[in-house]
Amino acid sequence: MTDTLIPGLYIVATPIGNLGDLSPRAAKVLSQAALIAAEDTRVTAGLLRHIGVKRPMIAYHDHNADRVRPGLVARLGGEAIALVSDAGTPLISDPGYKLVRDARDAGHAVVTIPGPCAAVAALTLAGLPTDRFLFVGFLPAKAGAKAEAIAELSGIRATLVLYESGPRLAATLATLADGLGDREAAVAREITKKFEEAVTGTLSSLATRYADAPPKGEIVIVIAPPGQPEAASAEDSDAALTEALTRLPAGKAAGEVAKRLKLDRKALYARALEMKG
Ligand code: SAM
Repeated sequence: MTDTLIPGLYIVATPIGNLGDLSPRAAKVLSQAALIAAEDTRVTAGLLRHIGVKRPMIAYHDHNADRVRPGLVARLGGEAIALVSDAGTPLISDPGYKLVRDARDAGHAVVTIPGPCAAVAALTLAGLPTDRFLFVGFLPAKAGAKAEAIAELSGIRATLVLYESGPRLAATLATLADGLGDREAAVAREITKKFEEAVTGTLSSLATRYADAPPKGEIVIVIAPPGQPEAASAEDSDAALTEALTRLPAGKAAGEVAKRLKLDRKALYARALEMKG
């Protein structure tokens, strides 16, 4: 662990609760960086104490990033600067992407030290499909904007991953049930901490569970993708054909119903002739 770091920007993931999750490589970078850009220097000071390290720090957060960034980029040519957020992976619902972009545009090395991320950890606890997922981050706080954002998500065929706070959890789950349908979901809470839990159920049952008892701590909501639309029943298809036949010849009626109900056109055509005959 004695080789020194080449100059550049190091994106360092830090624990989301259990300090044992800090990787040896992350600890090495933090102990050798010339400067640590931290979302909250007091929080990062705690982590540095844990690994017995003292390094110069500068605050880098949403409110000062535009002002601080040019100075950081100017230093990257000659120094190794680590970027950390309060917990987890920087840039994921946290500041940093503009710093990465500007560092790369200025020709500096950008290195990532991957590690904990609440969204990915929650996916591993939820027991829901992981082949396609969409990280949504925090929904807007205002009711109208929140419902609009949820409506946008409703057609997406992927597991959804959202960050939320305890006091808002029940209302958000109820709005999600309204906007997405009552899908299977998981509420993952306090991941890697003493009271870690993952509670599963439908969105509405979870909304009811948390309505009277807003949970403490940090929360990720994971929601199953929409189910396959149910195949139309024989009664539905007969009713649709009967109606279409009042307006159209058999071939066109079969074509229209096949498209609308996603059924086989040939079979519908045969059925239409049978109904007419
Ligand atoms: N960059 C972080 C990451 O990689 O997960 C996320 C930062 S975001 C500002 C903070 C949110 O992440 C919290 O409000 C919560 O929704 C989620 N979160 C962070 N730590 C968590 C944990 N230990 N358990 C559950 N959710 C957590």
